[in-house]
Amino acid sequence: MKQPTIFSKIVNGEIPCDKLFEDNNCLAFNDIAPQAPVHYLVIPKKPIISLLSCIEEDQNLLGHLLLVGKNIAIDKNLKSWRTVINTGEESGQTIFHLHIHFLSGKIMKWPPG
Ligand code: AMP
Repeated sequence: MKQPTIFSKIVNGEIPCDKLFEDNNCLAFNDIAPQAPVHYLVIPKKPIISLLSCIEEDQNLLGHLLLVGKNIAIDKNLKSWRTVINTGEESGQTIFHLHIHFLSGKIMKWPPG
């Protein structure tokens, strides 16, 4: 049987998080190892492995995750931020439960490393 990821454990309350927002379908919390002065994650409660695993029925959920992240950015009065979804090991994905990074508070470089 597939082991639950750390994010599934956060969703079910086994592991604490620095929560920013929660509803029936998603959870947002600060990243434990921030890569910018503001760095939070928005995740679905449903244990989707990555964007690669998403299917048509996830369409509304995916849009919802982005809007939740955007609303948090507005609450934080952010004017500019970067949104990242790593998909697969070579992209840098380390936790195989879909998550959207929101990063802000410093000048971002492009292209990303
Ligand atoms: P990724 O490399 O895209 O898979 O991103 C995983 C992110 O999860 C990294 O930025 C980690 O710092 C973050 N992370 C890992 N464990 C936790 C945790 N317990 N609480 C909050 N963020 C975490």
